[in-house]
Amino acid sequence: MTHPASTTIRTTCAYCGVGCGVLATPDGKGGLAIAGDPDHPANRGRLCVKGAALGETIGHEGRLLAPSIDGREAGWDEALDLVANQFSRTIAEHGPDSVAFYVSGQLLTEDYYVANKLMKGFIGSGNIDTNSRLCMASSVAGHRRAFGTDTVPGLYEDIELADTVVLVGSNLAWCHPVLFQRLAAAREARPDMRVIVIDPRRTVTCDIADLHLEIEPGADAELFNLLLSEIAARGMIRDRDLEGLDEAVAAARLSKGARTGLRPEQIAAFLDLWLASDKVVTVYSQGVNQSDNGTDKVNAILNCHLATGRIGHPAMGPFSVTGQPNAMGGREVGGLANTLACHLDIDDPGHRHAVQEFWRAPRMTVGPGLKAVDMFRAVEIGKIKALWIICTNPAVSMPEADRVARAIAKCDFVVVSDIMARTDTTRLAHVLLPATGWGEKDGTVTNSERRISRQRRVLAPAGQARDDWWIISQVGRRMGWYKAFAWDDPSEIFAEHAALSAVAGALGSDFDISDHARLSRTDYDGMEPFLWPQSPRKRGGRFFADGRYHTQSGKGRMIAVSSQEPRATAAEYPYRLNTGRVRDHWHSMTRSGLSPRLARHMAEPFLELHPMDATRLGLGPATLAEVESAHGQAVLRVLVTDRVQQGHPFAPIHWTGETAPTGRIDALVPAVTDPLSGQPASKSAPIAIRQFAAG
Ligand code: SF4
Repeated sequence: MTHPASTTIRTTCAYCGVGCGVLATPDGKGGLAIAGDPDHPANRGRLCVKGAALGETIGHEGRLLAPSIDGREAGWDEALDLVANQFSRTIAEHGPDSVAFYVSGQLLTEDYYVANKLMKGFIGSGNIDTNSRLCMASSVAGHRRAFGTDTVPGLYEDIELADTVVLVGSNLAWCHPVLFQRLAAAREARPDMRVIVIDPRRTVTCDIADLHLEIEPGADAELFNLLLSEIAARGMIRDRDLEGLDEAVAAARLSKGARTGLRPEQIAAFLDLWLASDKVVTVYSQGVNQSDNGTDKVNAILNCHLATGRIGHPAMGPFSVTGQPNAMGGREVGGLANTLACHLDIDDPGHRHAVQEFWRAPRMTVGPGLKAVDMFRAVEIGKIKALWIICTNPAVSMPEADRVARAIAKCDFVVVSDIMARTDTTRLAHVLLPATGWGEKDGTVTNSERRISRQRRVLAPAGQARDDWWIISQVGRRMGWYKAFAWDDPSEIFAEHAALSAVAGALGSDFDISDHARLSRTDYDGMEPFLWPQSPRKRGGRFFADGRYHTQSGKGRMIAVSSQEPRATAAEYPYRLNTGRVRDHWHSMTRSGLSPRLARHMAEPFLELHPMDATRLGLGPATLAEVESAHGQAVLRVLVTDRVQQGHPFAPIHWTGETAPTGRIDALVPAVTDPLSGQPASKSAPIAIRQFAAG
C-alpha cells in the first residue's frame, strides 16, 4: 500500500466521460471502500452503480503480472529492449509510416501525451490513433468545421439550467448515469423544464422525457434541417454574421418530414419546444457520431445553435458528451491520427513546426496518419509491420473484428500493453507488457465538460505492472531519445504538457492550462479539479459568447447538410442492427466483469427484437437467434420488446471471445465510416436473423 489504511484518497472514476470524483479508502486488507466525492463538481457525491462497484474490481484475478515474449516470461529490460530494437529496425528498413500505435480513451493524459510525442515527434509518423475514433471523432470533425477548432462549449450546469434539454442519440441514463441523475433532479425541481429524447429506441432515458421522438434510424440530420428551416421561416436567425448561412438554410429547406418517420404533430411539438426559449441545450452522443454521415449530423445540430445564437452563454448550447473517461484528454494531447497536441492543427506547417521546436524533436510527422479502420487495413496488407496496442482490445471492439484479429495475427511484430493477461488481442501479441490499472495509476483525466481531475494511486501495482507513461518513455529512451523521455514522475509530464499549451495559446489555441507549467509534485498531489481554459482572458470556461470563433474569418461556419436517402437493405441482410452499451458493463468487461453485482444486470449477450419481427422469424422470448452479417456470425438470446422498431434490433457490445465466443457484436459490424471523421457507422449493421439450430 502506498498510503496508510486510514487515508482516504480523492480520485476519479475509471469509466465514463462524466468523470465523477471518487473517495477511495483502503481497508487495510487490500480492499477499497468507495464513495462519491461530495466536493467534486461533476458528481457532488453521487455515483452510479459502476462507480460504486469499483472496489469489487481491484483484485488480481486475470491480471497480466509480468512481461512476456512469445509466451515466456521475460524481464522488463529484455522486453523493452526488444520493443525498442524492433521498432527502430522496422523504421530504419521501411520508414516511419511502417509502424503504428493504437491507443485508448482510457489512458491517462500523461500516458497519452508520451505516446503522441514519441510517434508524432520522434518516430516522425502520424500513425497513432485511438479507440476514441469509434466514439467521438464525428464530433471533433463537426466542431472543427463549425468553430475552426475542436472546442466543446458546454458545461454540465447548462443542462440543469436549461428550459429545454434535447437528448439526441444518447441513452444518458445508462451511458452517463450521474449526468442523467443531475438532469432528472433538475427536471424534478423545475416543473417547467422540458426534456426531449430523439432516439429510435425507447430507452430508460425516455422515462423522464416530455416528448420521445422515435425517429427513423439515421434521420437526425433531416430533423435538425427541418428545425433550421423553421428557424429561418419564423425570422429567428439571430446571428447573421456567419459563414455559409444562406447555403445551409437553402439545403435545410429541402428536408422532408416524412423521411424522419415522425408524425407531423410530433415534429411540430419538437419545433415549438426547441424554439420556445433561448435556454436550449442539445446533448448528443453515439447515436449521432457513429454514422456514415455522423459529421453532417453534428453540423446539422450546431447549425441551429449558431443561427439562433444559442451558444456561449449559460443554459444553452450544443453538448457532445464523451463516452470514455479520458476521451477529452486524448483530444488535448492530439491523440487522434489527424490532430496535434494542445488542439493545434496538424495540417498547419506553422503549428507542426512550433510543436517540433518545443519538443526539440528530430523528425516531426508531415501530416495526419492513418485513422483506426485504415490503420488495421494497412496492418492487413503488410504496410504496417510493427504495431503497439495500448490499453484497448481491437480484436473484439473494431468493426469487422474477425478481420482485424486476422490482420493483427499476420503482423510481423505486435506489442500489447494491458492490465489483463487473456483478451482477444493479448493472445495475438509477440510481446506483452503489464500495465497498472485504475487505483494503481497516477495522473489526470478530462471529462466531457473539459474538467481536469486527478486519478490518484491508492494501491500497489499488481505484480510487475508499470504505468503506461513509464513503459512508453522507456521505449523512447531505448530508441535513442533519452533526454526527451527522461521523466521520473507523471507530474513532470503534466507540467510539460501545460508549458506546451502556452505555446499553443500564442498560436490561437483555446487549450490553455499554462498556469500549471511550473507545478511541483506537491502541487500535482494537491490539484483540485479545474476547468480549462485558465488564461485570464478566457477564464470561466465559456467560449463563443462574443460571437467570435476560430475560423480564419473569425465567424462561425454553417454547413449545408444534404438530405440522406434511407439506406437500402440487401435482400440477404434485411435487418439493421443497432449496437451500444448496457448500464452495468463497460466495454469488453475486463474490469466490470469482475464484479458479481454488475454481472447480474445482464448475464449474457442478447438481441432486442420487435414483437412483429420475432413472430415473423418464429423466435420466442429467451430462444436463441443466429445473427449473421457479411462479416461474421453471433448467437444471441432473444429479448422480445417493443422498445425497438421493426427491422431495427439492438444488441450490446460487451461480450468477447473470452466471455461469450458467440456474442461478439463488432464482428458483425461493417467497417463503413463517415468520410470526414473516419468514425465507423456502428449503429447500422445489415444483418440476417434466423432460429438457432444447435449442431
Ligand atoms: Fe463513473 Fe460515469 Fe458512473 Fe460517474 S457516471 S460513477 S464517471 S461510470
